[in-house]
Amino acid sequence: MRVIFLGPPGVGKGTQADFVAQQYKIPKLSTGDLLRESVSKGTTLGKEAKGYMNRGELVPDSVVIGLIEEKLGSPECQKGFLLDGFPRTVTQADQLSRYLTSRGENLDRVVYFYLSKDEIVRRISGRRSCQDCKAVYHLESVPPKVKGICDACGESLIQRNDDKPETIESRLTVYQEQTSPLINYYKAINILGELDGAGSVPAVQDRLVALLAKPRVE
Ligand code: AMP
Repeated sequence: MRVIFLGPPGVGKGTQADFVAQQYKIPKLSTGDLLRESVSKGTTLGKEAKGYMNRGELVPDSVVIGLIEEKLGSPECQKGFLLDGFPRTVTQADQLSRYLTSRGENLDRVVYFYLSKDEIVRRISGRRSCQDCKAVYHLESVPPKVKGICDACGESLIQRNDDKPETIESRLTVYQEQTSPLINYYKAINILGELDGAGSVPAVQDRLVALLAKPRVE
């Protein structure tokens, strides 16, 4: 299965992507995670990406496309993959399509997660993640057992720089302007499935499993 998760920041794509990757035994490729890893390692790419990320802007297409193509070319992605947070611009989507066509491959599904702006802001503001194992929590809806500490590995939880209030608004504007055109882009080729991101993690999970099981309408 080759699938893309599309939708605004904070809508729950990452949480559901972990579940789907496990369930369908396909690798999850999150450009946000890959970029954050490069930033924390201080690589050349990370140094280039850091400023854009902290301002809530998109990292240049050429950087992200190079990063994702390198991963897609690896043996573990040959039987399928889940892209979380990529593509985010029409240029990225066009390039992905050219890349897959050159390999004789197709996308099976694009899942578009939607949610009200108020709920998106609530989810992003309360999001905390483990600086070591990257597990994600929410101060109200998915709190850790011990405040500030990761249940899974005992490391401290942190708030992402770009989850701070001053950056949320610009990320949502960037999404609206640069990424939301992809909804119609994929609708036009009949691979878009729309998913209500409201409610609990298991509730969204159930809707997602049902959507992925439905055959595509040609
Ligand atoms: P995310 O974890 O998906 O919310 O991504 C965090 C940040 O990484 C974004 O706000 C962008 O700065 C950068 N980023 C992630 N994916 C992409 C992408 N496909 N294109 C450009 N920038 C990206």
